[in-house]
Amino acid sequence: MLNIVVFGAPGSGKGTQSDAIKSHFNLFHISTGDVLRQEIALDTETGRIAKKYIDGGQLVPDDIIIEVLAHVLDKLDHQDGVIFDGFPRTVVQAEALDRMLEKRGQRVDALVDLQVPEELLVERVLNRSKVSGRSDDNEEAVRQRLEVYKSRTIPVMEYYRAMGKHIPINGVGDINEISQGIISALEQKLNRKV
Ligand code: AMP
Repeated sequence: MLNIVVFGAPGSGKGTQSDAIKSHFNLFHISTGDVLRQEIALDTETGRIAKKYIDGGQLVPDDIIIEVLAHVLDKLDHQDGVIFDGFPRTVVQAEALDRMLEKRGQRVDALVDLQVPEELLVERVLNRSKVSGRSDDNEEAVRQRLEVYKSRTIPVMEYYRAMGKHIPINGVGDINEISQGIISALEQKLNRKV
């Protein structure tokens, strides 16, 4: 089993790159943002709570998102592993994920860190807003999301870096070239472990 965290700021390309590499490794793609947007669309209690945080560019509280993720993991079947896109976003979430995987005899194998300069991130999200329909793809919310990323999510990268699992990737350039770069970096890392 292979468990990869795709990590990066809003607009860094996590969703795009997760989609591009999942079939190569036969991984199931879990985007906690997508799961929450689905809950909102279905008008569930979780969705109603999450919407307030999402619209304000804030993180959904750890206990709620950890429960959401645990539920998705419990329903998973035969894939060769998981791409976690947008989770974990705090160290508390990272510790919870490690525990959930450990119970299954698994672990996070690598964290792919998509690195993109801040002004390009804002530009990308504002461009995306024209087609995404996302309530948090506006300048005020994206600036807030970037602040939250720096204060609460960067420590997740440091947490996995300390375990030797951090793979930095230049997230600027041609989408296919970035995907190829991720795939070869992952293969190199995984082969080294065998
Ligand atoms: P994303 O689609 O990954 O950009 O997520 C959109 C929004 O959903 C985030 O700005 C948060 O408000 C919320 N969200 C998604 N994943 C998480 C998470 N792991 N922890 C807390 N909030 C999350």
